[in-house]
Amino acid sequence: MIEGLISDMGFKAAAYACIAQFDNVIPVWGVQREWELDEFIGYSDDPPILNQKMREPIERDLNELGKEFCRGCGYCLPCPAGIDIPNAVRMSLMIRRAPVLVYLNDDCMEKMNNVDRCVQCNQCKSRCPYGLDTPVLLMVSWIDYKTVVPPLHAHDPIKTFVLFCPIFSNA
Ligand code: SF4
Ligand code: SF4
Repeated sequence: MIEGLISDMGFKAAAYACIAQFDNVIPVWGVQREWELDEFIGYSDDPPILNQKMREPIERDLNELGKEFCRGCGYCLPCPAGIDIPNAVRMSLMIRRAPVLVYLNDDCMEKMNNVDRCVQCNQCKSRCPYGLDTPVLLMVSWIDYKTVVPPLHAHDPIKTFVLFCPIFSNA
């Protein structure tokens, strides 16, 4: 699964070529603008072929970013403690990629508070197809959320917005 925004043109071609090499995989491209749709249609008409030059940035990013991140697939559910694992475990990323105020409401905070109910049964870990140590990642995300976001918001919500909004930060 590929998630996230890809802005580099060469990398877009590499992503397309990477997915196209598998017969039974159908990509669902995220498109925000008409020119992006034109771009993907153009790739369909003239498919880029994965080559060594394309593999290099893929390998570089893989080494830099690592593989230990949640893809949000939800296969780890259900959790006997009722934890919303896919959202809770990705919270560190979401507060830096989306407008942070979305994640400061009571509902979201309550869901994150639920992480404290984890009984370390490891059911989620045994179901994760990516081999993630889900309980550990959950705890890391939870600590990050409660350490960084609510105190900042309580002190200065505008500062929090500017600090975490992708438009104003490079995170
Ligand atoms: S280890 Fe924690 S988060 Fe995972 S299924 Fe068990 S209670 Fe839920
Ligand atoms: S922890 Fe694993 S199984 Fe659960 S949503 Fe994330 S990637 Fe999927």
